[in-house]
Amino acid sequence: MALTTTRDETPPEADWDRAPGLLDGAMNLELTPAQCNLEYWLTAVAQGTLAGLVGGHTPGAAIPAHMLADGPLRTALISELAFRSVAEEKATRAISSLVDTAPDLDTMEFYATQLIDEARHARVFRGHIVELGVPEADLLATIDRVAGLDIERVLVPLEEFSAPVREEGDFIGGVIILTVLVEGVLAPAAELSERKWKVLDPAASEIEKGAGIDEIRHLTVGSSIVRQHLLDHPEDKPRLAELIGLGQQMWGSVPVLDMLARREALFQQGLEAHADVVGDYEIWPGRRLVDTTAQERMEQGLSWSMQMQQTRMAYMGLT
Ligand code: FE
Ligand code: FE
Repeated sequence: MALTTTRDETPPEADWDRAPGLLDGAMNLELTPAQCNLEYWLTAVAQGTLAGLVGGHTPGAAIPAHMLADGPLRTALISELAFRSVAEEKATRAISSLVDTAPDLDTMEFYATQLIDEARHARVFRGHIVELGVPEADLLATIDRVAGLDIERVLVPLEEFSAPVREEGDFIGGVIILTVLVEGVLAPAAELSERKWKVLDPAASEIEKGAGIDEIRHLTVGSSIVRQHLLDHPEDKPRLAELIGLGQQMWGSVPVLDMLARREALFQQGLEAHADVVGDYEIWPGRRLVDTTAQERMEQGLSWSMQMQQTRMAYMGLT
């Protein structure tokens, strides 16, 4: 366990300007709890990634007037952030069990930092709803109104699914749920969001970018914990594979595609109304955002999700 790190510069994977994209980083980097302990977080993240950010974005990032006016774009973003802020809040609370049951100090420290990361994500997502003009006093009621049903239908079943693992203090089961079944599934939506809002709401896109940099660390370190566990305890593989199978069934039984479809349909209306703002901006190489459809963006998110899962599962030794 390294107790000290030399303070030179922020490592590239945590650097605001040099970090890879979320999916690229999560598929191609390898980080371990011994590398990403508390000392790493304090220097590379608190004083690196997050240095100078206000409310999760650079102070000068624009929130254009079209985002402050009532309409489909604003509604789409508020409902997305409302849902995701509650997902982050629930993740924060769940991670407290991983801090509790972590088998060694580096891993305990890593989850303590991930706990703060997720609490921060919840906060900056809520913060942007306020930046979009929702009065702070109405924030929680607004979140409930625009996302309450989705939270009930998607996040509550997920929480119920994880409850037995938490109650048993099953550390590695908890890591599987978080890394494979929650972050592995939701990360591509975050990548899509960062790209979708880049021109329409630069501040929102930067908030996503900062959360995405954290997510690279969460996914890679979580995977390396599972990988090491399976190298040390190959006999545990069937049990963990079964847990993943049950989790995938659970995902299949909740209306998450329905939620994404509603979100993209609203975004599409707003996109068409503000095509002039978006101009030739390409959401991915060779594809202008204005030419994409709701269906296409959803399919791209799903295909990223499958690609990432395949890579990470092979790395962990779960295929
Ligand atoms: Fe998060
Ligand atoms: Fe995360």
